[in-house]
Amino acid sequence: MNKNITPHQFNISLEHRSELNKHNSFLIWFTGLSGSGKSTIANAVEHALHLKGIHTYTLDGDNIRKGLNKNLAFSPEDRKENIRRIAEVSNLMVDAGLVVLAAFVSPYKEDRKMIKQTIKASSFIEVFVDTPIEECERRDVKGLYAKARNGLIKDFTGVNAPYEAPENPDIQIDTTQVTVERAVELIIKKIEPKLKIK
Ligand code: ADP
Repeated sequence: MNKNITPHQFNISLEHRSELNKHNSFLIWFTGLSGSGKSTIANAVEHALHLKGIHTYTLDGDNIRKGLNKNLAFSPEDRKENIRRIAEVSNLMVDAGLVVLAAFVSPYKEDRKMIKQTIKASSFIEVFVDTPIEECERRDVKGLYAKARNGLIKDFTGVNAPYEAPENPDIQIDTTQVTVERAVELIIKKIEPKLKIK
């Protein structure tokens, strides 16, 4: 921190905000290939949480890459900066008292480690949406695999850029084996104890 910046002591802390919300806050991070099902599952989990009265927000490529990170591309350096900014925004939102859901390919282990270091480790839940690339490519939700195979996109994860799978994710879901509904159940079961204020 710059030596001329002195943090102000605010009267209202995260504990006060959590008490008002009646639940704890944390980050649920979805990583996996494009088309693996991250946004679909995050959206369904957010819906389930909303129905339970939990305050949530979802960060994904649509609301981040079009605004805050619109000056970034897909080189390893830009991907790193992309994740760094998302981690900082997530950290603020968790401090604001929200359950944050973030759905990003986030292919590099080191970048995901950085998120965990930015957010308190106990407030970071990693969900690996582990759908085989053949299935992601068959779905080709946005037509991007076809473009990448035709050489129209360079740096496309799984085709001409690497994906480093998490070794110890909190939850691992292969969407060829698990329905969206079941994935939601698994995630909610895992996070329910974390939501409760002691
Ligand atoms: P990502 O956010 O990982 O790029 P999307 O959620 O946008 O992926 O797309 C995943 C696609 O796979 C959607 O069209 C979704 O309907 C489909 N799909 C089929 N089965 C599942 C499942 N069990 N879980 C999640 N998505 C699934």
